[in-house]
Amino acid sequence: MSGLDRSAVAFDVEFPVVVVGAGAAGLTAALAARDAGAEVLLLERDETPRGSTSMSQGYVCAAGSKIQRAAGIEDDAERFYADIMARTRGTANPDLARTVSDNAGRAIDWLVENHKIPFEMNLTWGGFFGHSVNRMHGVPSKRGEELHGALIRAAEEAGVNLVTGAHVDKVFADETNTVVGVRVRRADGSEELVGCQTLVLTTCGFGANLEMVKTYIPSFGQAANYRYFGHEGNEGEGIEWGRDLGAALGSMDAFQGYGALTEPYGIIANYDMVMNGAVTVNIEGKRFSNENADISAQALNILAQPEGTGWIIFDDARRAIVENLPEFRDLVTLGGVRTAPDADQLAALIRVPPDALKDTLAEVEKMTRGEMACPFGRDFSKSAPLSGTLHALKTTGALFHTQGGLKVNSKAQVIRADGTPLPNLFAGGGTAESISGTGCNGYLPAAGLCMAVTLGMLAGASAAELAASA
Ligand SMILES: Cc1cc2nc3c(=O)[nH]c(=O)nc-3n(C[C@H](O)[C@H](O)[C@H](O)COP(=O)(O)OP(=O)(O)OC[C@H]3O[C@@H](n4cnc5c(N)ncnc54)[C@H](O)[C@@H]3O)c2cc1C
Repeated sequence: MSGLDRSAVAFDVEFPVVVVGAGAAGLTAALAARDAGAEVLLLERDETPRGSTSMSQGYVCAAGSKIQRAAGIEDDAERFYADIMARTRGTANPDLARTVSDNAGRAIDWLVENHKIPFEMNLTWGGFFGHSVNRMHGVPSKRGEELHGALIRAAEEAGVNLVTGAHVDKVFADETNTVVGVRVRRADGSEELVGCQTLVLTTCGFGANLEMVKTYIPSFGQAANYRYFGHEGNEGEGIEWGRDLGAALGSMDAFQGYGALTEPYGIIANYDMVMNGAVTVNIEGKRFSNENADISAQALNILAQPEGTGWIIFDDARRAIVENLPEFRDLVTLGGVRTAPDADQLAALIRVPPDALKDTLAEVEKMTRGEMACPFGRDFSKSAPLSGTLHALKTTGALFHTQGGLKVNSKAQVIRADGTPLPNLFAGGGTAESISGTGCNGYLPAAGLCMAVTLGMLAGASAAELAASA
């Protein structure tokens, strides 16, 4: 049941533009609609907006922004488009990839210049994973909370009517599939009916809806140790409303996983130490993957191991890379980092067979010295061997966010299978189809927030334009 309702109701209040979901996409859409002169109501189910946006590191990939150029980085929409298509082995929706690569840099410039969002280039970022140049725009703290807070502040300054604790559980539409309003349910059980001329859906993806995950991403949804690590409010409602209004869905099996979520702490293990030579073993003390091939697909690799867990094994040199990061300090405080003077004692501490762990580490040493090829194809040529005191972090694989959703055109209008737009429905962020193609390994780092701010900007501007012309 998606909550689509065809009955005629009298609305308590009406707005030209209603946006559902106050993550990065919804806030950006609301800002764009305000900039275009529309009265905007932004409805958020949580009392305090958090969304996956606050859980993220706040990085947005974009090509050709002014701050990227000022940092001396040569990039443009054509190159970004080529990277998207290469990363997804040609499976990304090419029209959408064009729209996003053409507009992402503009979205960053607009947010910086018109709304004082403190983006800067993260020049130390090393994990290109498919980006041929550095296009990582982030906020100074490298935390999504800061980005989210800056967008909320900007929305307040711009006069967006942000109402929190407002769960939209119904969308009303007429027989032409024109949306006429929504029902808002409050925590105390009361209801409000809000009419609208245009509706922007920014409720993110469906990671928190296990039934949808099982249907669309069976490799993940049916994993015995399935773990979702995005926002719990992302139940796919926006996608279901759009689908029931006649929208086409795209890239529904695509997702971003993460192969290094610590157990049982649910804190992200920073992957820089693995990229610099740490390895992951299973509870049998054996490596099972090229840890650096794909951080997203690594989630499935770990979930396929006994008990669905593994241990990242690292030494003092690799530890120094992450030592001062807040999440690593939290893990130390919680006792999540196990430390021992040698492999034998570490194996006893983490309860893996000592001989197997010693054999694994001896093989890794040979690989770093070029005396043996990695059976999983990992290139150890630039890694120094692990030495001295050893540490271990228990990890599992998790779903961060889904990448499939409502198909949209270059104005972020939700479209049908034949490409025609629905009368007055727009979508952005995780509610819309993304640029990740199919499956688990098409995700370009920071594409999630790129989709949020780029489609959010387009959706808000288009909705305001349509409302003004009505
Ligand atoms: C741990 C983690 C790290 C990540 N790091 C990055 C990164 O650095 N860079 C990057 O690009 N991406 C990253 N991502 C992905 C990124 O966070 C998402 O792609 C992005 O936040 C999506 O934005 P959104 O606005 O679509 O969704 P959200 O931020 O999730 O916002 C959706 C909002 O809609 C609300 N909502 C849902 N249903 C309703 C309803 N029916 N009524 C009212 N409100 C509703 C929710 O409560 C929520 O606040 C990360 C994700 C995770 C989980």
